[in-house]
Amino acid sequence: MKAAILSKFRNVFGRQPEIVARAPGRIEFIGNHTDYNGGTVLGAAIDRGVWVAYASRADGQRRFASDQRGEIISVPAAAIQRQEGPARWTNYPLGILASLPESGLRGPAGFDYLAMSDLPAGAGLSSSAAIELASALAFLGAVGSEPERETVVKLGRHAENHFVGVPCGILDQGVSGFGRENHLVFIDCRGPRFTTVPMPAGAHFWIFNTHTKHALVDGFYAQRHRECAEAARALGVPLLADVSPDALAAAADRLNPVAFKRARHVVEEIARVAAAVTALRQDDLAAVGRLLTASHRSSQTLFENSTPELDLLVDVLTGTAHVHGARLTGGGFGGAVMALTSAEFGDAQARGVAEAYAARFGARPDVLHARTGDGAALVAI
Ligand code: ADP
Ligand code: MG
Repeated sequence: MKAAILSKFRNVFGRQPEIVARAPGRIEFIGNHTDYNGGTVLGAAIDRGVWVAYASRADGQRRFASDQRGEIISVPAAAIQRQEGPARWTNYPLGILASLPESGLRGPAGFDYLAMSDLPAGAGLSSSAAIELASALAFLGAVGSEPERETVVKLGRHAENHFVGVPCGILDQGVSGFGRENHLVFIDCRGPRFTTVPMPAGAHFWIFNTHTKHALVDGFYAQRHRECAEAARALGVPLLADVSPDALAAAADRLNPVAFKRARHVVEEIARVAAAVTALRQDDLAAVGRLLTASHRSSQTLFENSTPELDLLVDVLTGTAHVHGARLTGGGFGGAVMALTSAEFGDAQARGVAEAYAARFGARPDVLHARTGDGAALVAI
């Protein structure tokens, strides 16, 4: 990728880049809908990401190019405005520029900018956080700043929430910023605080993206937020993370049956994240896998954010050799399933899973094999 972006930058802009930055995509490993309930989540930065190459310009023009679009988009440095149409993707780097002053930081004026990616966009692997963080590192590098990881994470999330207008939680940017090869990122969403947990050797990820999305997904998310907040209120706590599984069981009669199911998913999921950290520290991938599958079953029956497509993938995967466990990854109501496997699981097994899916639903899922990777960083050129 490094040679490719250097050469493409020269082709597009006729000059050498001064800075190259890279940020990875991420997988939600376990911790489903725990973030806005004040809970914990484990994520994995993967070995694919977005690369940004940058060189400053004296004339104040900001010129943006991407491997995903043909044309160069020129924006004067004076005004940062939201872009529509084919220039829409530049809202990610522009959102970073717009967010810098609010963090008391300075950005560059004119520049040539190229984004390139070996991470599929819109596949639930958070290419958006990756392009935000790579852009932030390039822009701050251009003015000689060496930001803390927290700062870069915050900038990315601010740009996505307030400039792009997507209300994502802290997982996407937090994992892209704090990822580390052979590690998972543990996030206590209340701080937020970030730490890494070693990933036992020989762990592989396989992601099966169904490209299905429930028509009412935004409404369902909002409804789940509301149900969780109502359950917390009925339990007399600020957030569901303040309730232990035992305390919840003891207070069951204070909740209506639906609120109880939602709360039970969140409270037990937070306990599963803690159990996963323990199992990881004991190098027990089989136990980790069982927790992943239990997380999916809880989504299926308690939080009710799974779909027949995702359930079929989990059913087939958990019946396939060399799979430790599988679960829906991300918000649910469509999207992707992630499997944790040993090295023996390969293309043949993945094809078998995809065929079982196609036999039932017609279309084939996209299949991606990934391993853990490092977090966002400048790349020496
Ligand atoms: P996800 O984050 O799951 O990949 P999003 O819809 O949040 O999906 O973000 C995808 C968007 O990020 C793309 O539509 C595009 O605007 C932007 N993006 C990602 N990678 C690139 C790239 N290499 N070049 C330009 N834009 C990109
Ligand atoms: Mg995204």
